[in-house]
Amino acid sequence: MDAFSSVPPPWTEKAIHAIGFRCPTCNEAPAKAQQVWLNRRSPVFTDNYKRKWQEFYNCECGCAWWGWSNERPPNELAEREGLGGDRDFPDRNLPNNYRDPFS
Ligand SMILES: [Zn+2]
Repeated sequence: MDAFSSVPPPWTEKAIHAIGFRCPTCNEAPAKAQQVWLNRRSPVFTDNYKRKWQEFYNCECGCAWWGWSNERPPNELAEREGLGGDRDFPDRNLPNNYRDPFS
């Protein structure tokens, strides 16, 4: 019996389908989940012949939810690293102190 044929974890049984690939209870991102299980044994073919599968997340709030793999936002890894979103560059708001001789 190989690792990929293991049975789903018990917490996936009560998982609910989340909209927007976030915890439907506390709105946390999947990066906050404490457990993850990918149902890659039974993928589904989408309209453009790509495969998708269910991704189960056990959120830290105790809510189990799942979403389709192709709905996962591409910046999820960036969120995990703390680099995601629109970063600000506050130093760009600093005024120039030097004189421009050509103005
Ligand atoms: Zn949650």
